[in-house]
Amino acid sequence: MSEPPRKRMVKPPSGGGEGGRPQPARLKTAKLRTPSSQAWLERQINDPFSAKARAHGYRSRAAYKLIEIDDRFHLLKPGVRLLDLGLAPGGWTQVAIERRVATIAGVDLLPVEPLPPARILQMDFTDPACAPLLMQSLGGPPDVVLSDMAPNTVGHKKTDHLRIVGLIEAAADFTVQVLKPGGAFVAKAFQGGETAEVIALLKRHFASVKTVKPKASRAESSELYLVATGFKGR
Ligand code: SAM
Repeated sequence: MSEPPRKRMVKPPSGGGEGGRPQPARLKTAKLRTPSSQAWLERQINDPFSAKARAHGYRSRAAYKLIEIDDRFHLLKPGVRLLDLGLAPGGWTQVAIERRVATIAGVDLLPVEPLPPARILQMDFTDPACAPLLMQSLGGPPDVVLSDMAPNTVGHKKTDHLRIVGLIEAAADFTVQVLKPGGAFVAKAFQGGETAEVIALLKRHFASVKTVKPKASRAESSELYLVATGFKGR
């Protein structure tokens, strides 16, 4: 996902632009790329969180979103059992391992390079067979469920919104079924639409529900994170 671009495609730094400010790197060989993949690549190259992630060995810049959330809410502790839904390429799981979370299981549609000791399933989280397999991999009820799942967009605004909300609701419903009392749930969501209903659902089950926009979440994106803590139990 955040594979470093090949160096020869990047114009070398020119030593600063107007007023001595460095100019953003531009890609030269754009002929075979769509405008959106060109824009994505240029954003990756010029983005400080992508650079930091490469330097630190994180597989994704998303790692910094979880670091900021955890520095504030202190969810990732030794002894915790954690589920990571939509974990590819693995930045969040890397952070959880670094913070000595005891047991980690995760799932993604995409293949993920092994991240021991995390147990990783490659399947659709919404497949009814997935939940029992995840629970079996984890070996007991989770203290924390993370969901950074985001479906591929199809370009039709309403369809995309419904698919995103459907995934958030599936993750929230599952979490309420399996979480340990006192546990926490962190989920990627998007401003507007039915997100208010998901927040209302979480407020019935958790002592506190906060919305967070981490610095690593792009300002132009409507992405935000729901952080629900103090699960009241079933
Ligand atoms: N948190 C990850 C990290 O730190 O590297 C990044 C996650 S990425 C933003 C979202 C992931 O959700 C994608 O890898 C995608 O394949 C996955 N995803 C989307 N829908 C899914 C589903 N139904 N089941 C499992 N994974 C899904």
